[in-house]
Amino acid sequence: MQVWCEMAWLGGPIATPGVLLHVDGDRIASVRTGVAAPPAGSEILTGLTLPGIANAHSHCFHRVLRGRTQVGEGSFWTWREQMYAAAARLTPALYHQLAIGVFAEMVMAGYTTVGEFHYVHHQLDGSPYAQAHEMELALIDAAQVAGIRLTLLDTCYLHGGIGQSLEALQLRFSDASVEAWVTRVSGLVDAVGSNPLVRVGAAIHSVRAVSPAEAAVVAAWASQRRVPLHAHVSEQPLENQQCMDAYGATPTSVLDTAGALRSAGGFCAVHATHLADDDVRAYGSASAFVCFCPSTERDLADGIGPSVTLRDAGARLCVGSDSHAVLDPFEELRAMELNERLSSGGRGNFGAAQLLEAGSANAMAALGWPDGGRLGEGALSDLVCVRLDGVQLAGAAPSHVLESVLYAGGPRDVDAVMVSGRFVVRSGLHQSVNDVAERLRQSIGAIVADG
Ligand SMILES: [Zn+2]
Repeated sequence: MQVWCEMAWLGGPIATPGVLLHVDGDRIASVRTGVAAPPAGSEILTGLTLPGIANAHSHCFHRVLRGRTQVGEGSFWTWREQMYAAAARLTPALYHQLAIGVFAEMVMAGYTTVGEFHYVHHQLDGSPYAQAHEMELALIDAAQVAGIRLTLLDTCYLHGGIGQSLEALQLRFSDASVEAWVTRVSGLVDAVGSNPLVRVGAAIHSVRAVSPAEAAVVAAWASQRRVPLHAHVSEQPLENQQCMDAYGATPTSVLDTAGALRSAGGFCAVHATHLADDDVRAYGSASAFVCFCPSTERDLADGIGPSVTLRDAGARLCVGSDSHAVLDPFEELRAMELNERLSSGGRGNFGAAQLLEAGSANAMAALGWPDGGRLGEGALSDLVCVRLDGVQLAGAAPSHVLESVLYAGGPRDVDAVMVSGRFVVRSGLHQSVNDVAERLRQSIGAIVADG
């Protein structure tokens, strides 16, 4: 298939006009520039074409909380209670239906890959479902239906807090022991087999939910299999304080000692909001990934992570939508720069190309797809085309089109999305999931009954 792009971002500070991509199945076979007009028979993408954007941190079911958790006051910890209540109402069938809607919304917003940080593994009382991996397979099938590339980050979650047993609503997250987690996730890898759109990675929920010795076992499993390893790190000051009290070390240091930061398949610290200087140096020297989730972090009043110092130290930055307070990759990416402006009082911390690289190549590598995230020969054939004729972006010109799209674009401007050589979205419409809004309305209504 030949795809002609009016303008495309091929790396660097500006877009290139007249780009012809030859797409051969799941790969971009060649890229030609200077093609002023579309050749006969080619697919025509009008506007700006970008590599596929990856959502490096997602909890699919948190979508049901959108808006509901904005009522009244509350803290991260009271938000967590509402999230547990939603988790308690999930069944494999409800989760499957919801995930189709959420993944479809995600792909329509411009995300071509998602890293699903998944911990709702078992029945309410913690006992396994009769069908092995039922929740995991429900998510995987939903991603296939919605047409999004998936890295399922199977999450180890064993404790209710450091040295604390699980609360009743946390039982279904737990495998009871790290050995049982290893057995289950190894079985999941076998069950998934060689699906070209799905990878299984590992996650340590946090130092609250996994002890240092258990974290070392998870890290060794991920490293041995060379799959991505992710963990929530230092989202709240209380987590740091509890970790220091228990272990005399920061969460980053605990995970580093457990071997997580140098795991062979790559390590990604999610949030990394409240870091010590040594933590920043540790991520830099390990070339680790750090995933900011700005829309969620400001929603939960977490704070602003040290993006510039992490980048300067050598960490590789990416973004995720986490709780899906909004689903908008452009919002997450521009927030990395705009949050830094608010905290530092200075502009121009990240260039457009750096932000786009965070959303594409870095995020794809953090999710175990190092061949993705660029429009280049041999790369995975994932792309997003942003139209420039809507009221929001009208007047954008080639010299600043990257900045226009990053700072003023949104999901409503996403015109076409290709995942693995197939158009999943065209003219802003999902090509295989009908009426995504109605599907979301119904599946959210089936999980939360609040009128
Ligand atoms: Zn999270």
